[in-house]
Amino acid sequence: MVIKVSEIPEEGVQIEGVSAFPEPFQDRSWRLEDVDLTVSKDGDTVFVDGRLDARMPQVCSRCLEPYEAKVEADVHTRFVPSPGRGEERELGADDLESDVYDHDQIDLGALLETEAALGLPMKPLCREECKGLCPSCGVNRNTVACACAPATGDPRWAALKTLADRLHR
Ligand SMILES: [Zn+2]
Ligand SMILES: [Zn+2]
Repeated sequence: MVIKVSEIPEEGVQIEGVSAFPEPFQDRSWRLEDVDLTVSKDGDTVFVDGRLDARMPQVCSRCLEPYEAKVEADVHTRFVPSPGRGEERELGADDLESDVYDHDQIDLGALLETEAALGLPMKPLCREECKGLCPSCGVNRNTVACACAPATGDPRWAALKTLADRLHR
């Protein structure tokens, strides 16, 4: 969804509900579940504030199983007109939270995509208490209770020892 800055009313505009974004993400496996944005402007500076809920497929960093991550992201972005070619603009400290727009247009879909991606966990976990893979035999300890002793020392040696035990049986 692209809005024209010149068409934003003085009192601002509210965009609510996923129906405003029929194809919000380039990655079709990402799902927008809810969105609520307020777009307002002050001169040629545009403020987009609100929140979004999305679900995106992830792979658990502990057990390596795919799962769906729920992302709830706050949106607080300020857009300023992009400086013309050859024009220098002083970068202030608060420009870190600013974005630029061109040709009187702001792509709210692209903003949602960025904010959703930023909301993804650095270390995805299918659940907080995920038990992960057994360092000895490699089973998913969420679904299989293996008889391996708790890992002591270097798990790579433990895996080799298990293999050696099997070979000598
Ligand atoms: Zn997991
Ligand atoms: Zn095991």
